Amino acid sequence: MNTKVTLDFTARERKNIWEFLITRLEEYYENTSRQKVAPALEMQAIRKLVEQHDFQKPLVAREALEHVLKGLSEFTVHTSHPSYFGLFNPRSNFPGILADVITAVFNPQMAAWSHAPFAAEVENYCIKGLGKMFGYEESYIDGTFCTGGAEANLTAVLCALNHHFPQYANEGLRGLEVSPVLYCSAEAHHSVIRAAKVVGLGWDALRPIPVDAMGKMQPDCLEAQLLTDRKNGSEPFMLIANAGSTGTGALDPLQELAQTAKKYGLWYHVDAAYGGALIVEPELKKYLEGIEESDSITIDIHKWFSAPMATSMFITRHPASLHQTFRITADYMPKEASEMKVTDPYTHSLQWSRRFIGLKFYLQLLMVGWEGLAGMVRSVSETGALLKKQLLEHDWELLNDTCLPIVCFTDARFTTDSQFVPALCQEVVNSGKAWISIYTIKKMPALRACITNYTSTEKEVGDLVNLLNKLRKKYLKG
Ligand SMILES: *Cc1c(COP(=O)(O)O)cnc(C)c1O
Repeated sequence: MNTKVTLDFTARERKNIWEFLITRLEEYYENTSRQKVAPALEMQAIRKLVEQHDFQKPLVAREALEHVLKGLSEFTVHTSHPSYFGLFNPRSNFPGILADVITAVFNPQMAAWSHAPFAAEVENYCIKGLGKMFGYEESYIDGTFCTGGAEANLTAVLCALNHHFPQYANEGLRGLEVSPVLYCSAEAHHSVIRAAKVVGLGWDALRPIPVDAMGKMQPDCLEAQLLTDRKNGSEPFMLIANAGSTGTGALDPLQELAQTAKKYGLWYHVDAAYGGALIVEPELKKYLEGIEESDSITIDIHKWFSAPMATSMFITRHPASLHQTFRITADYMPKEASEMKVTDPYTHSLQWSRRFIGLKFYLQLLMVGWEGLAGMVRSVSETGALLKKQLLEHDWELLNDTCLPIVCFTDARFTTDSQFVPALCQEVVNSGKAWISIYTIKKMPALRACITNYTSTEKEVGDLVNLLNKLRKKYLKG
């Protein structure tokens, strides 16, 4: 049997399969709002479905696809649903979906520039474009596409270490005579903790700085901690600020922190995984003032910019830094472009063989332009403002204050009843009509709703508030 032919299928079979699949996917995409937002987590049923086939006999294509589509329809939290008010998981935008399909078909190898020169230059162009928006000087901008904010933050910690301790690349932490410490907000994303752990610094090297009532890092506390650490002989090397914390959407005082970083010679990284999207909107970008003074930035294209998963960007204004951090030469890697002034992506990134992540952003820009992105960011912000307004009108108490479309709230009558919020949240999720989450603020659980889907409108916001009001009434009656 010729395996190549089997795996390719015939041209006729492919045509049928494509047509069938596109019709079904289009049905889902067009009618996502008819889905129940969250499934019941019936572990036995799910496993049974997954293990239904033992691969001894191949299924016909349609049957195989039906099986997968059924599993995903029934047992997925539909983050693409306009009533999913959850974590920063967007609905995939259409250009991004097309890009993922194209990438899978061409499968360009992003390790060596000479194997995928178009793809490599597309990514560089996107990184430069967004870097300029953030206010970096064009000729210094460098960066890499990453699988997510976690990888981008890890990349940042590695660049900072290599920048501050040039011997780190060869000798590792063992080569250092000092004890490096780094700083972040107490509300930093947990990927920052993990980065400290995996680079070998350990959790103890990380100094979470207290935040104020609105979740912003307090520069005074930072300075005090820096002085203490210096006095104790530690070597501060990095500061990580939040531009949109995951819980409450808090933006740290970016300008002030830039000053502190400068004063103490720290690599200044801004984790703008979600909030960084504000930069494309002329009225909203003011909230990111100070980000231009950073040394590097994390921005997830798969959050507010709504690319399908595994699309993130690390940007820096130190053009030698990624190279210094990741450079390695391997004899077997293609060398056709070694005379050209180009960079092999594998010398620049944690990844080696890598998919063409950047196409999802490039195609989106080609198809809707910066204007289109700005309009989307503006409209999602407005929907967020509407949600805040409606909650206030119905006597909900807001517990955070941010320019981002994230609302943390409760009912003032239940601030000492720790059951109220979990009970309400569970009922919302169980209803299948919407999805919200819980975030703990000052040791008390709060309801958290975030506009994370550009198709969420006034209608979904109104429905959510009605549902919450109804459930609150029910809870009151006991
Ligand atoms: C989501 C998030 C991350 C992690 O990004 P992933 O894309 O999930 O890896 C890091 N920082 C912040 C502020 C985030 O919101």
